[in-house]
Amino acid sequence: MLALDPRSLIAMAGVMATAMAIVLAFMRRHYPPGIRGLGYWAAAPLAWLVASVLYSGREGGLPDLLAVVGANTVLMLGTVLFHIGCQRFIGHPTRWPAWGLYLVASALGFAWFTYVEPNFQMRLVLFTTLVSAIYATNLHFLLRHGGKRLPVRMVQIVLAAHLAVLVLRLATALAGMAGAHLMEQTLLQTLYISAYVLTVLMLSIGAVLMATDRLVTELEHLATYDPLTQVFNRRALLERCEEELARSQRTGRGPCLMMLDLDHFKRLNDTHGHQHGDAVLVHFAHTTQSVLRRADRLGRYGGEEFMLLLPETGTQEARRVAQRIHTALAVGHRLDCQLSIGLTSWRGPDDTLDAMLARADQALYQAKAQGRNQTCIG
Ligand code: GH3
Ligand code: MG
Ligand code: MG
Repeated sequence: MLALDPRSLIAMAGVMATAMAIVLAFMRRHYPPGIRGLGYWAAAPLAWLVASVLYSGREGGLPDLLAVVGANTVLMLGTVLFHIGCQRFIGHPTRWPAWGLYLVASALGFAWFTYVEPNFQMRLVLFTTLVSAIYATNLHFLLRHGGKRLPVRMVQIVLAAHLAVLVLRLATALAGMAGAHLMEQTLLQTLYISAYVLTVLMLSIGAVLMATDRLVTELEHLATYDPLTQVFNRRALLERCEEELARSQRTGRGPCLMMLDLDHFKRLNDTHGHQHGDAVLVHFAHTTQSVLRRADRLGRYGGEEFMLLLPETGTQEARRVAQRIHTALAVGHRLDCQLSIGLTSWRGPDDTLDAMLARADQALYQAKAQGRNQTCIG
């Protein structure tokens, strides 16, 4: 049966941990500071590297205090650091003092079974149980708070798989099959240490993927939404309009488009200040969203001009939506505003977005010319 040399496997874990620590430290330096946890995730493989070096030092004469008690505790520290990284990443408070106590108590336990009652089997039972508890805590945390993104799922699977291996290891240790020491070249040791090597690698890769996934999501958000009002930006809304028109070609049911322009906004800015103007824009976007249907899409076209896409909607229904918007912004709220709306509906398969925009714009112009605070249809 294939049994690999534990020394080589442990050295491999050290090499992988070093590489991953460098990658994660690099990411911590260059990713936006809003992505939390990278420092802890970078420190975790560093601790695993130190643990590997300490384990390997035993045969070179390193005292047990470092090669056994130290190595086990530092490996656990790495696992705790990884867990804390996950908590920071998700924005949860961390419980450092509790984990500190846990590590000190663990070290005392390892010291007991090294110096007072030297017993490899008991050390193994203790170590396996204590590490399993950290993995289980992290897995539970990620299942509850981690969401459903793929990288989180991957980390969950790695944690669960290693937890299963640890339980198996505990069972074999309790059954007296643990062997005499860590460096025994047996199939079981090969399996356990390989699982550890793989976990060191996969957890760090999981951290890289989680952070990158967050970065992509944040960039996507920045590229899609208007930072002030949090409605779609012009580019994103026009993209959705094009998609909707393409869909209309297939279904035969077209959308309505509205251009909405706040009335006398310059005067409002001049009278109450730019910040008040900003607050009015936010209030407008929020209030308008609240009277829309799920499928409707509001976007900021520029300045105090907004655009609304109403999929599969006829003129009469769109007119009612416009009326709801006028009404919702005239309830006596201190940020209420008046606006003019230009509305147009899809005219069949030959209609284009440019033509619709031109008609909506023309209708808006007419609404302004007729005295503002009204909707015109183009
Ligand atoms: P009208 O009724 O004809 O639409 O007049 P108006 O004053 O609303 O239109 P105008 O185009 O003359 O002025 C628009 C103003 O909107 C000018 C600009 O300073 C202001 N504005 C554009 N973007 C923002 C913004 O992000 N925040 C604030 N506070 N003001 C903005
Ligand atoms: Mg205006
Ligand atoms: Mg304007």
